[in-house]
Amino acid sequence: MNLKQFVPSGYCLRCLGCCRFSANPTIWATPACRLVESSAGYRCEHLNENDSRCAIYSKRPLDCRLYPFLLVKRNGSLSLGLHKSCFFVEEKRPNIREYAGYLKKALSRPEAISELGKNPEICADYRENVEIVVDLGEVYKKIRDNKALPKLNRLTLKDKPIVDKYLKKIQTGLSTYHFAPLFIWKDLFKIYWVVIENNLCLFYQDNIGIFMPLAPLGDGNERALKQCFEIMDFYNLNKEVSRIENVAIEDAGRTKLKDSEYLCLCEALAQLKGDAYRHKRASCNHFVRNYPYQVLAYRQSMRKDCLELYHLWRNQRKQSHKPAGSGLASDKPEGNACLPARQGAASDSRSHSQSHNDQLYRQMLEDSGVSFNAALRYSKRIGLSGYVVKASGKIKACSLGYPLNKEIFCILFEVCDLGLRGIAQFIFREFCRRLSGYKYINIMGCSDLENLKALKLSYRPLKQINAYNIY
Ligand code: SF4
Ligand code: SF4
Repeated sequence: MNLKQFVPSGYCLRCLGCCRFSANPTIWATPACRLVESSAGYRCEHLNENDSRCAIYSKRPLDCRLYPFLLVKRNGSLSLGLHKSCFFVEEKRPNIREYAGYLKKALSRPEAISELGKNPEICADYRENVEIVVDLGEVYKKIRDNKALPKLNRLTLKDKPIVDKYLKKIQTGLSTYHFAPLFIWKDLFKIYWVVIENNLCLFYQDNIGIFMPLAPLGDGNERALKQCFEIMDFYNLNKEVSRIENVAIEDAGRTKLKDSEYLCLCEALAQLKGDAYRHKRASCNHFVRNYPYQVLAYRQSMRKDCLELYHLWRNQRKQSHKPAGSGLASDKPEGNACLPARQGAASDSRSHSQSHNDQLYRQMLEDSGVSFNAALRYSKRIGLSGYVVKASGKIKACSLGYPLNKEIFCILFEVCDLGLRGIAQFIFREFCRRLSGYKYINIMGCSDLENLKALKLSYRPLKQINAYNIY
């Protein structure tokens, strides 16, 4: 593909700016060529240092031909950028408007689209001293269409029936396989769906990249998986971001353990009988004896009060620096802490320090506030139900959940004023008592937080279900 020259050759031959680098690897070098050591650091393998000529000049890669213009891929969009560090640009301050318009047209031509499709890595998140000059959204769309990638649909409430239809085909026991826990993150991620090979595939996108919060809903055949990764790799600057989370089946060599969720017997939690639950029972009894209370089904009109409660609870948690009750190291956990973690938050948190875990937990509290707000707002429409506990006329605890299938009910959120001792155990028990026909309660995972894990285990789960990520 031929391009009109922007920088006069004579200028480049007198300049030592291009094809030489101080680091290896570097975003500024063309991915098509190797770097070799040189007197001043590194140089492209095709650069003749004696006369500054390129040995493959007529066939040099597209990004070399474009420079000082760059293809800037950022937040799922593509733009033309100008690298202001080019000596020609710095010294001559050329008018770029006309040439940028010409490049935009040239890059829209089929041969350019095909070349860009084959070499997506030349589009990168260039930042330092780069000025964005033209949007290349149309070019980006053409590259996607050329690669025959399907168009992703933005997920809305109207799509719930189709998502539910595909969710019904899957029986995992993992809490993510329901519309509610997927949709409540809509203010933190752009959520997309598309049907590939009869599998409904969901994607979350934020400014880090795009990934799948759960496995393709269907038979998950290899062709569907391959296309899902092609889509993610197309949108992601860093292919390591491309992953499928919450896969229920381990596939040695391909999957990595993400988290484990816990299933408790619903009846056991409703009754809290026996020695194993004596501390929980004592906490409930303390609450019942000391506070006049009412248990009410959650209604939309309670949303504002529940949000206020969340802020209070979040601050109490942050002050204690520990998830859900500071007595976790002892056998007297003081909370239940059902709180969904933002997908991806703990994916690679294994082996991290306590301070990392504190940071992770604080971030989880912030993110979950956003999802709690969405859960309260759309509760009925996304299939959530729950209860509040009022004490002294004010809402002091709120819990929301959903039926995952005929056997399992999942408690998604539980927030309470921890100043009222025993209220967390009380609302949890009352919620379980009011459920009928469910054998298990899924109390979700611990996002790799040891304290949270100890707390969950104190409810004596009967089963553990592993969630894996595929990279
Ligand atoms: S920095 Fe600019 S002027 Fe110097 S060689 Fe590169 S393109 Fe030419
Ligand atoms: S291929 Fe040629 S123009 Fe491109 S970096 Fe190497 S020497 Fe420079």
